[in-house]
Amino acid sequence: MNKIPSFTIDHNRLLRGIYVSRRDTTPSGDVITTFDVRMTEPNRQPALTPESLHALEHLAATYLRNNPQWKDRIVYWGPMGCCTGNYLIVQGELESADVVDLLRDTMDFVARFEGEVPGASPRDCGNWSFMDLEQARKDARRYLQEVLADIRPENLVYPQ
Ligand SMILES: [Zn+2]
Repeated sequence: MNKIPSFTIDHNRLLRGIYVSRRDTTPSGDVITTFDVRMTEPNRQPALTPESLHALEHLAATYLRNNPQWKDRIVYWGPMGCCTGNYLIVQGELESADVVDLLRDTMDFVARFEGEVPGASPRDCGNWSFMDLEQARKDARRYLQEVLADIRPENLVYPQ
């Protein structure tokens, strides 16, 4: 199994998209794929706000863990510290193209979401009011319309 060393990626040339960050074999022998779900161009477009990413985290995780086709294979969804995207970890040896439809559905769910953000309560979250649902909806819609709707090879494979 080849590991893809994400530390060699040139962030100056990285676009928005869905990239395979790495694949790992767990001690039990499962292959898991980590995707780089990049929502803004690093160092060239404004980063997302942490409040937007936090709302997106709750909503995307909720959607992914309830998707009938994928829920049993979802290991993790969470924000990048640099606030330009998220990591999605899925069981299986996968390519970016395999999860395009799933991420379109996920972003559509976030973009249309109304009401109380799941898990946004003092009992369920460590900083429950640190959320910006309106901004998360805008960020999801923009990523959906500008990147995922007509996704291109350069948005699926890291720059070489
Ligand atoms: Zn939270």
